[in-house]
Amino acid sequence: MLIQLTDNCTNQELDNIQTGLKNISYKGNVVETRNAKYLICNGKKEIDIRLFGNMPGVKDIHIVEDDNKLVSRKWRVEDTVITCNDGVEISRKDLTIVMGPCSIEDEEQVVKTVDFLKENGIKFMRGGIFKPRSSPYAFRGLGIEGLKFFSRICRENGIKVVSEVMQVSQIEEMYEYIDVYQVGTRNAQNFNLLDALGEVDKPVLLKRGMSSTIQEFLASAEYIFSNGNENIILCERGVRTFEKAYRNTMDINAIPYLHDKSHLPVFADPSHAVGIRDYVEQIALSSVMAGADGVLIEIHEVPQKAASDGAQTLDFYQAKRAINRLRETAELRKRIMV
Ligand code: PEP
Ligand code: MN
Repeated sequence: MLIQLTDNCTNQELDNIQTGLKNISYKGNVVETRNAKYLICNGKKEIDIRLFGNMPGVKDIHIVEDDNKLVSRKWRVEDTVITCNDGVEISRKDLTIVMGPCSIEDEEQVVKTVDFLKENGIKFMRGGIFKPRSSPYAFRGLGIEGLKFFSRICRENGIKVVSEVMQVSQIEEMYEYIDVYQVGTRNAQNFNLLDALGEVDKPVLLKRGMSSTIQEFLASAEYIFSNGNENIILCERGVRTFEKAYRNTMDINAIPYLHDKSHLPVFADPSHAVGIRDYVEQIALSSVMAGADGVLIEIHEVPQKAASDGAQTLDFYQAKRAINRLRETAELRKRIMV
């Protein structure tokens, strides 16, 4: 059960509700986000919500059997719309395209990418400056100095910055330069990091852990939400399976399923899902047909020279073609899936 408390719910009113819960062997956890105050109630018995519905301090009450209650659509039927600081929205209405290199390399690369994005009406640039690499000897990113010029060039051009945060201490370091924090697959169950991201007032793009079930993926989002941040984007980026022919296996099923189960926006990352440049566009288009609200795609002027993930990176010509086809596919979907 999920109880939304009134904005001016008093301590006495909250105590009374908690006592009522204790009497039926339920436990209530208070969650306060930037938008509202909730009581997440867990217990075994079936209950009659009328017991609580009329109590002072209760604004709304829902039976949510899902383990992950705050991210569940059983409670919030409307899709969550994420509004960035200057009014740019991430929502079901328009497809969000996020493009950029796997790693930020130098200023010239950022300038060229930003020019390309602007020419094509793309509002979000991705780029890693803290890179989680499978080998400690691989390029591990430029760090905060890279983020500073990445952010400056993007802001001069009205582009939003998306970059991965790997540990709690980096959240504050990155804060003034970032628009969307990305949590990578390897940190999708770093619960201390998720807790801390719950405390910030900027959106979080949460990738699915490479071996996370949907339930675990939603639980990761619930960590962020229950710590106060409702602005979360779920991003399917492929999971590890027995198949070795490509980098990961894109779980296309996850896209409509997550939409059904959760009110949060759902993105797809075809680059890391398939890991092979020639298939990225097709997987991206398929994701849009499956209902993705956004796609995250790696691009580079010369992918062969990229510091990381070159094999799955599109050049600008391929990226432009993908953008056009993605937009057409989004329109087609709107027309046929009414
Ligand atoms: C990335 O986006 O470059 C990245 C490392 O992604 P993932 O965490 O999905 O592997
Ligand atoms: Mn990458």
